[in-house]
Amino acid sequence: MLTYPIPMTPGPVHVPPEVMAAGQVDYGAADLETEFLDLYNRTEARLRIIMGTRNPVVIHTGEGMIALWGALKSCLAPCDRVLSIATGVFGDGIGEMARSIGAEVRKVSLPCDETVTDLGPIEAAIKDFKPRMITAVHCETPSGTLNPIDGIGDLKRRHGVPLLYVDAVSSVGGTPVSTDEWGIDLCLGGSQKCLSSTPGMAFLSVSDAAWEIVDAVGYVGYDALKPFRTAQEDFYFPYTPNWHGVAMLDAGAGRILDEGLSECFTRHNAVAADCRGRLAEMGLSLFPKATAAPSPTVTAVKVPEGVAWPDLDAALRKEGAVMGGSYGPMAGKVFRLGHMGSQADPDLASKALDALETALQQLLP
Ligand SMILES: *Cc1c(COP(=O)(O)O)cnc(C)c1O
Repeated sequence: MLTYPIPMTPGPVHVPPEVMAAGQVDYGAADLETEFLDLYNRTEARLRIIMGTRNPVVIHTGEGMIALWGALKSCLAPCDRVLSIATGVFGDGIGEMARSIGAEVRKVSLPCDETVTDLGPIEAAIKDFKPRMITAVHCETPSGTLNPIDGIGDLKRRHGVPLLYVDAVSSVGGTPVSTDEWGIDLCLGGSQKCLSSTPGMAFLSVSDAAWEIVDAVGYVGYDALKPFRTAQEDFYFPYTPNWHGVAMLDAGAGRILDEGLSECFTRHNAVAADCRGRLAEMGLSLFPKATAAPSPTVTAVKVPEGVAWPDLDAALRKEGAVMGGSYGPMAGKVFRLGHMGSQADPDLASKALDALETALQQLLP
């Protein structure tokens, strides 16, 4: 088994024993047993609380990307206009995904080390482009930043944009996500980040406006949303649901609610602040600019001058710690501490930072 005693990966995260245990059961056939439907309904109810929504939540078997793709394909007809707010690898990628399925895409782009502070360019683009959908990313995991969504939601409402699509995969469960208050129609999450479950499950809330569009577009496919509109009522899912996956997701969601949402968010904030403090003491620089909002779930750090990331990675592993590198323009230049879900733990973070200090002492002259 490939495990390290100090996991600080930006997802998939360490799966706590009680979540793992929920998956170590020989369940029956999910499409036949009403116990599965009860579990699905309970998991949905828990996720709605965590996501701050009264809307139904669809639970898919598949990686986070299935929710990202499925929501785009289910809600966009060819040539529909999409305004993509791109402040990082995921934000930019979602715009490309929409383009690849035939949407007309305009991007409002910011460098990866910035977050949305000025709504002016977004408002101007909405007025000029009149999009059917706005896409945004709450936590840009590769750059460790957290975009405010409320202002974008206000613009959406004020200008009558039908749909707001928000990737909250690495924020939901670790920091407040107020889906309904912020006007989010499609809010996307995954099991292996702040929910502290195994990879392979994705979920998304779907507003009334989005359901109407889903019906009108009529997209058919494994990742299609349409069959989920009636799946619970009819107990007829579009594919055999993953009982184990839902059970572990439910246990992960239950853990958050047992702790209390505000306690859970406070814990994430405190660990993130500790991390940033220790990193500053060690003379390391955060990747996000001082004017950008750092995420409480993941901290992105510049690889120090004179150190190669693969060497740092190897030295960390020798100390028992695993962190993440980064992607796109940040590959090799940025590394990340994932303090989300089970890993938003002050003792674990402290050990990880000790390991980082030791590793850097070995590598730096
Ligand atoms: C992890 C993540 C996803 C989903 O990625 P998968 O590899 O499919 O699990 C999507 N968006 C963001 C911002 C993420 O951090």
